[in-house]
Amino acid sequence: MAQAQVYDHGGGVRSLQVPIPDNPLGHTLVHVVDTDRGPVLVDTGWDDPASWDTLAEGLAACGTAPGEIHGVLITHHHPDHHGLSGQVREASGAWVAMHAADAAIVRRTRETRPGRWFSYMAAKLTAAGAPEEHVAPLRTARARELPGFSPALPDREIVPGELLDLAGRRLRAIWTPGHTPGHVCLHLEEEHPAQLPGHGRLFSGDHLLPEITPHIGLYEDPDDATVTDPLGDYLDSLERVGRLAPAEILPAHQHAFTDAPARVRELLTHHEARLTGLLTLLATPLTPWQLAERMEWNRPWDQIPYGSRNIAVSEAEAHLRRLVKLGRAEAVAGSEPVAYVAA
Ligand SMILES: [Zn+2]
Ligand SMILES: [Zn+2]
Repeated sequence: MAQAQVYDHGGGVRSLQVPIPDNPLGHTLVHVVDTDRGPVLVDTGWDDPASWDTLAEGLAACGTAPGEIHGVLITHHHPDHHGLSGQVREASGAWVAMHAADAAIVRRTRETRPGRWFSYMAAKLTAAGAPEEHVAPLRTARARELPGFSPALPDREIVPGELLDLAGRRLRAIWTPGHTPGHVCLHLEEEHPAQLPGHGRLFSGDHLLPEITPHIGLYEDPDDATVTDPLGDYLDSLERVGRLAPAEILPAHQHAFTDAPARVRELLTHHEARLTGLLTLLATPLTPWQLAERMEWNRPWDQIPYGSRNIAVSEAEAHLRRLVKLGRAEAVAGSEPVAYVAA
């Protein structure tokens, strides 16, 4: 078994690298926060036997064990963060806490049959202008079970702005919707252990990462037709985190870093440039699918695998929502599927 990678950040905070199988991100950084009632985890990692073994081994290297965990704080519902929460709770009786908006997604995921998801996705992709050969497999995929369809129901709510009930620590929930509707960052308001300038430390989940930008797509909900603006939410959340000016950021992927305001500025500039670039493409009317085909990705469109194309279309739609909300683009009246054009 590979040696567990444990890093001591000082002041009763450590991080463990828990692998994500077959994923270029490599691993989730699970943080272990000491409290007077036992260790609390920030995120748990992907639900996979090898990931569980690495988590257990890492906790042993920290002088504890899965059975001693007091509580689990989840930044957002994605399986690389929430996957092992149920197993930790089974081993220890720990509570699991999450923001209400992501807890609602967990509940819905558990209650929605895969067939309903496939027909919802098929209808959505058709409306976005996807060609029939892309949509067809979803109509026949019904019976297959999907992984990650039974995530653990949290038993506590993370309430934005409130201090979490952690004995001997000052950890405040900061709601940062965008990547998911209930994403939270957790602000450890204690002085930085190495006295770095700034205000404490921030567990940033996927919201603020040192070298990559998180995926911002639509908040998929088969039961809710509300027109949300996830990219707008994300940009607002970024500014909120920048204003906190934490001395150090402890993200859930890659590595810890400093100067959050600079990273926030970089990301705001990146997104503004991307929106402006899309307006150039929208000089002629395009459906979300056609826009996705023309956007810049990490590889040419014809090499993007099936599942990633769905994610790309969702990202294109999130950008269109933002442009429409800003009055910089508009739907072409009478188009079917709906096409958008620069205003
Ligand atoms: Zn995520
Ligand atoms: Zn993640």
